Amino acid sequence: MPTKLVLIGSGLAGGLLAAYLGRRGYDVDLYERRADPREGNMVGGRSINLALSTRGIHALEQIGIADEVLKHAIPMRGRMIHPAGAGARTIFAPYDVDPNKHINSIGRAALNTTVIEAAQRYPNVRVHFNHKCIDVDLESATAHLLNPPSPGYGVAGTSSQPLNSSTARPITASGDAVIGVDGAFSAVRQSMQLKIDGFEYDESYLAHGYKELTIPPGPDGSWRMEKEALHIWPRKSFMMIALPNPDGSFTSTLFWEFEGPRSFAATKTDDDVRRFFGEEFPDAVSLMPNLLDDFRNNPTGSLVTIRCAPWFYKDKVALVGDAAHAVVPFYGQGMNAAFEDCVVLDECLAQCPQDRQSAFAEYFQRRKVNADALADLALENFIEMRDKTASRAFRAKKKLDHFLEAVLPEIYLPLYTMVTFTRIPYAKAARRARLQDRIVYASMIAIAALLIGILLKFAG
Ligand SMILES: Cc1cc2nc3c(=O)[nH]c(=O)nc-3n(C[C@H](O)[C@H](O)[C@H](O)COP(=O)(O)OP(=O)(O)OC[C@H]3O[C@@H](n4cnc5c(N)ncnc54)[C@H](O)[C@@H]3O)c2cc1C
Repeated sequence: MPTKLVLIGSGLAGGLLAAYLGRRGYDVDLYERRADPREGNMVGGRSINLALSTRGIHALEQIGIADEVLKHAIPMRGRMIHPAGAGARTIFAPYDVDPNKHINSIGRAALNTTVIEAAQRYPNVRVHFNHKCIDVDLESATAHLLNPPSPGYGVAGTSSQPLNSSTARPITASGDAVIGVDGAFSAVRQSMQLKIDGFEYDESYLAHGYKELTIPPGPDGSWRMEKEALHIWPRKSFMMIALPNPDGSFTSTLFWEFEGPRSFAATKTDDDVRRFFGEEFPDAVSLMPNLLDDFRNNPTGSLVTIRCAPWFYKDKVALVGDAAHAVVPFYGQGMNAAFEDCVVLDECLAQCPQDRQSAFAEYFQRRKVNADALADLALENFIEMRDKTASRAFRAKKKLDHFLEAVLPEIYLPLYTMVTFTRIPYAKAARRARLQDRIVYASMIAIAALLIGILLKFAG
């Protein structure tokens, strides 16, 4: 009998992991609390579009769906910075010295559908929508779920209604192992937290929340700002960004303090919203005819970093993606890292086909240090994006980075390049960038000292 795996959560990583495991011959049952995203009622998505880069593309390539996904992607070649002040001119900062290197704006819903369909190509993978996991029995690898009562409900391809826990019937799903791919607020991880002695858990929320807003297409369906860029309005303690969509629109996201004199909490009336956007984002506000409705109706999301350990229990349970390591979105790497988890877990299972516990342990050992490094990088990048991108010194450092990358190919790689355009493990990239910076700053000091020495010699 093939090994049976119960996966919880068919978000971005859940669908992809099911495809990998299906290809490896496992018998996979994937349970998702929401309705089938193909029915168009994907509520509560984390963001409408995302930046996909090298690590994520590699994971999609391995399962043969990268071209399908990239067909709908819009390349973003750099940051388009919108400085403060009416009439200030935008500044384009390329992501890399190589103009062909870009990140890709892709729609979350379409990507989610693609990975689920990739999994469903394997007859040994079954996807069950409208099944919410509420608990996991770790020793027996059994997930306890709630499913609404009507016949056929929640099976892929049938009509679905929202899950109502008061009428939902309890079901159990047992396997050789349960894998939690159920996102930052993972029920599988919660069961591990409650039942494993010494389970380490840390969550930390930013003081900032986020709200998504829309910049619709122009009358002819065209993009009303530069299409192939990630737009940033850096405003020191907060910022707004915008990513292009294939239909000519942009999805912009305001990252702003929850509380304080200028904050989500303090912005109560339409006039408050108009005034704030007029003062801070005058060039964008004229492109946002639905601003007031969007601001009023769209939820304000929170931003959390979650670190936990271990990510597995014996050969019975494992965590993948945000369930194991949610990070704030400022490096555009959460999904890319979750996809990389799928590749690594698949490799570890291939290396130890008869010893799943060793495979889980090896996966945890390879990924944990890198997830921790990414969490730190993502927090640091918030400060870079909201504050430093507006400064001349920062842009000069980026130019120096690109110059050194061009003259020292393969020797000098800027941190952003390593994180976004290579698969160098995050922890190694962070270490290497620190070393490079030390060498560059030491060289600059040595050159400055030499120049001063020469000047003094001539002056004397
Ligand atoms: C505003 C924002 C912008 C972002 N931008 C980017 C970006 O540009 N690039 C990038 O790489 N990453 C980005 N991310 C991060 C990215 O969204 C996540 O890292 C990614 O979604 C993680 O995938 P996942 O499958 O682990 O979790 P999720 O995508 O959250 O999927 C979890 C799934 O599990 C299901 N589920 C949850 N609980 C249960 C349960 N109890 N029972 C059954 N099912 C359950 C959910 O419904 C969901 O379908 C962003 C995040 C945010 C918040």
